[in-house]
Amino acid sequence: MAKKWVYKFEEGGADMRNLLGGKGCNLAEMTHYLHMPIPHGFTITTEACTEYYNNGKGLTKEITDQIEENLKWLEEVNGKKFGDPEDPLLVSVRSGARASMPGMMDTILNLGLNDVAVEGFAKKTGNPRFAYDSYRRFIQMYSDVVMEVSKSLFEKEIDDVKAKKGIKYDVEMDVDDLKELVKRFKKIYKDALGKDFPQEPQDQLMGAILAVFRSWDNPRAIVYRRMNDIPGDWGTAVNVQTMVFGNKGNTSGTGVAFTRDPATGEKGIFGEYLLNAQGEDVVAGVRTPQPISTLADAMPDVYKQFMELATGLENHFHDMQDMEFTIEEGKLYFLQTRNGKRTAQAAIKIACDLVDEGQIDEKTAVTRIEAKSLDQLLHPVFDPAALKSAKKIGAALPASPGAAAGKVVFTAEEAKALGKGGKGERVILVRLETSPEDIEGMNAAQGILTVRGGMTSHAAVVARGMGTCCVSGCSDITNIDEEKKEFTLAGITFHEGDYISLDGSTGNIYQGDVATKEASVAGDFARVMGWADKYRTLKVRTNADTPRDAKKARELGAQGIGLCRTEHMFFSGNRIDAFREMICSDTVEERKAALAKIEPYQEDDFKQLYEAMEGDPVTIRFLDPPLHEFVPQTEEDIKKLADSQGKSVQQIKDIIAGLKEFNPMMGHRGCRLAVTYPEIAEMQTTAVIKAALSVKKAHPDWNLVPEIMIPLVCEEKELKFVKKTVTDTADKLIAEAGSDMKYEVGTMIEIPRAALTADEIAKDAEFFCFGTNDLTQMTFGFSRDDAGKFLDSYYENKIFESDPFARLDTDGVGKLMKFAVDNGKKVRPSLHCGICGEHGGDPSSIEFCNEIGLDYVSCSPFRVPIARLAAAQAAITQAK
Ligand code: PEP
Ligand code: MG
Repeated sequence: MAKKWVYKFEEGGADMRNLLGGKGCNLAEMTHYLHMPIPHGFTITTEACTEYYNNGKGLTKEITDQIEENLKWLEEVNGKKFGDPEDPLLVSVRSGARASMPGMMDTILNLGLNDVAVEGFAKKTGNPRFAYDSYRRFIQMYSDVVMEVSKSLFEKEIDDVKAKKGIKYDVEMDVDDLKELVKRFKKIYKDALGKDFPQEPQDQLMGAILAVFRSWDNPRAIVYRRMNDIPGDWGTAVNVQTMVFGNKGNTSGTGVAFTRDPATGEKGIFGEYLLNAQGEDVVAGVRTPQPISTLADAMPDVYKQFMELATGLENHFHDMQDMEFTIEEGKLYFLQTRNGKRTAQAAIKIACDLVDEGQIDEKTAVTRIEAKSLDQLLHPVFDPAALKSAKKIGAALPASPGAAAGKVVFTAEEAKALGKGGKGERVILVRLETSPEDIEGMNAAQGILTVRGGMTSHAAVVARGMGTCCVSGCSDITNIDEEKKEFTLAGITFHEGDYISLDGSTGNIYQGDVATKEASVAGDFARVMGWADKYRTLKVRTNADTPRDAKKARELGAQGIGLCRTEHMFFSGNRIDAFREMICSDTVEERKAALAKIEPYQEDDFKQLYEAMEGDPVTIRFLDPPLHEFVPQTEEDIKKLADSQGKSVQQIKDIIAGLKEFNPMMGHRGCRLAVTYPEIAEMQTTAVIKAALSVKKAHPDWNLVPEIMIPLVCEEKELKFVKKTVTDTADKLIAEAGSDMKYEVGTMIEIPRAALTADEIAKDAEFFCFGTNDLTQMTFGFSRDDAGKFLDSYYENKIFESDPFARLDTDGVGKLMKFAVDNGKKVRPSLHCGICGEHGGDPSSIEFCNEIGLDYVSCSPFRVPIARLAAAQAAITQAK
């Protein structure tokens, strides 16, 4: 029997998400099991999409035959024929992947209209204006989405027709205006593509289906997938559904609604709709929609039915639903439901409320919150004192929470160049409306301000997903001009580079650079974190080099320090002077004298770290970077160093030149420094042990066991050599103090050879900590500092789906890690293992760490809550 590539809605169900995609499986569930008012339709599977790519971007005959069969069925159940000159069947064609990717892929509405059918459609509906409006929308959408003709060409014609008539809104165009537009649009199509607009509905349908499959691989979808860890081989399904019309006059309309507020999580239907409009008008933000509550007056019966069905959907799926609906001449249809995207604040409130309502258990609640999104809760708010004196210049919709201040930019490209990932400045992206192509610019901005669009507009949905502050629909802005790079608000004209500040939680807009401060976390957040801690087995430590970071991490739940990069301590105050003296010493004595100056500082820093961690483990990593990173750069600093060491400027310059390396990251760094200059390891051991002894004395009840970590080891004898310096020094100090304090010496595993010889290395190491930044660098042979420059081409060419420095490469680097854990533990069963590279704060990497049996992950302080939640999610899903 032939494989089934196409499913009618009545043949599927919510459990078929992988095959039918999110939209398709829920449409099936609503049709098949919930018997809701859903226009008839069918879904072409995600497997057909994969087959399309395997087949050199073409559909096999088996798939096209099944599409045609289902189309025939659709004609029968609707009693209408595709392309019929009297009463044509019209369909929508929409994408729907397993994971929702709002706005990333393509949708085509009103498919099936042509020059003849539009006349029949006009007669049948008795509404020529509506028929021609649908036709012009279809040509516009088909040209843009399927044939990639620029949208702006069509918008110009609409503006021209409206300007000639002196009207402002699209709804004011009459049938003749729309006929004129159809004529002009067809001409645009022909001019651009050298052929007539397709009149055969079957051809239109196949073109649209192929366009949806193609859109799975458009650049914005690829970026979205990378940001959301969605694998490229999942593919998208295509849903072909009978059109219902929200643009048939004032008893028709279309809208989007949530069963709880996606920004705050507050229970209650929250949504917007537009009368006499089609779906894209609401999401595209072209007109500002009405709140759903006003539907109660406009159409009380429809409102009542809508509320019942919406509540029913939430109770069925046990989660907040995001629904699309259309009212056609007073009759309500649902076109989609899905678990709604939400802010972290809303996710936490909803999870807690659903537990309290008895809808879900704690474990389910923990898996409902996207770990990465917790970042939003730790986002800044305005400093109340600064806010008092700030000049408010407007207010609009509070589309995505947090406070942001920065320089105004007008395009996504400028945001990318100036903002995060670019020059690192704070920027606010100001747009008439955003479109999915802007996604990277939005990601680079501190905040987003749009002139048009409601709470469900593209800008709002995407900004919430990213956790970026967004204020949308500020129609008080006048004269926004992307070319001149200016806009006017409250009588003030702002230019590119001027500062503004946004409050995404209130919708307020301020002039100037208003100071922000960190958010505090409590309440439901603490409750969810409590559940996470109950169900996780991985411990979460932090990477902290300063007492301030350590305290912050402790507040956020860190169970110790997994990595203290001691070199970071050398830059503050005048320590760098002593450190430079050490580097530029000619003899061991000179070096020891300089190190003796540094030792008390280190000791004091370590004491503070031990105090902050209250007896929990603190891993101190010995000096790691190449020494030339510390040498003076300016003439003035070189002279200062020369004077303090009694050397000439030239001598210092010669020493600096001698430190230069061709490949510094593979050069004289890590434990290699301790091999050539054991006195450095001696000094650092002294500082660690003395600090620990003194803190232990002050807190005899703390189980203080200092952990000393040797970086960049590649060979067991190398570790043994350095370890001897450490143990000789430490044992002597402990004995002198008459203490019985224990300590551990372990190593970072960050060179492939260390992973491959883990059984040897474990003989000398009491713990392993995976330095996956270097391990990724050395396994791939990619410079961790430069790879960003060429990785874009890897994504574009589908060689990589994600940045291996951000998301652990489980196939290669992960394999080395697993090998090292397994072989290390064979030799030393008590060996404890952790990770302290950037991946230690990345949820998908944490899942892998849980799987291979690490004891802890260590990450930057603000990622600690993310790691706690991700660790719990990993434990819960892996137990299943
Ligand atoms: C690593 O390499 O992953 C690591 C944590 O060390 P660093 O980033 O300091 O090289
Ligand atoms: Mg490293």
